[in-house]
Parts: sequence; structure tokens; C-alpha cells
Amino acid sequence: MKISHIEHIGIAVKNLQDSILYYESILGFSCYAIEEIPDQKVKTAFFLVGQTKIELLESTDPEGPIGKFLEKKGEGIHHIAFATQNLEEALTEVETKGVQLIDKIPRKGAEGLHIGFLHPKSTQGVLTELCEDKSK
Ligand code: ZN
Repeated sequence: MKISHIEHIGIAVKNLQDSILYYESILGFSCYAIEEIPDQKVKTAFFLVGQTKIELLESTDPEGPIGKFLEKKGEGIHHIAFATQNLEEALTEVETKGVQLIDKIPRKGAEGLHIGFLHPKSTQGVLTELCEDKSK
């Protein structure tokens, strides 16, 4: 597997609007997209920092993955996403090397990316996402 860069860092927040305000007025970024992903029960906001994005995640359902994360751990870094090519092959490769997968088959993520999560049990506690941009 060849990872080209950090695609994005996912940050769980309680209130998307408040958080957008912080990133815009304090850090000087500008939010270029807000997208709801019903499948993952989140609303996301994106900022570009060089080649890497910041993905803010607000829960739309307390029973969803971000809702549960916020309840357990509070706000903070939720996952890190690496850009790779041929995601299917990459997932198979890491599974062969003993990594527990959350997604054995790529699924659709925000911004039309194909994504697959590795289980934090196998990645020293860091929820890790691999993603592939098939439009490139
Ligand atoms: Zn992500």
C-alpha cells in the first residue's frame, strides 16, 4: 500500500456552527462545504489546510458513532484519514497483515470518497480511515 498524504483529520464536535466559527474567526480558515451523511448519522464541515482537510463531525443521532464517541470521550480528534490508491487492495493487504477491519469493503464517505476504517484495537488506539478519490 502506498499512502500519499493525510487526506483529513476528523474532529468530533458538539455544535457544528460554533466550531465553524472558531476555525474561521480564530484560525482564519474558511469552510468550503457542509454535508450531511445520513448513513453515518453526522453532519460534516470541511476546511482545507494545504493538501489536508479538517473534517468537523457533528452527530445527528445520539446512537450514531459520533454521538457515542462524544458521550464517552467528549469533543476531540476522532480519526485520521490517509489517502491511498486502490482502496480494496489496501484493505485486503492490511487485513492479511493482521489488522482488524471495520469495513471489509469500501463504502462511500463524504465528498464522494471511497473509504474504509481500520479498527482502533489494531492501530494503537487511533481510528484510522483509508480513502481513495476515484475522481482523480
Ligand atoms: Zn473521515
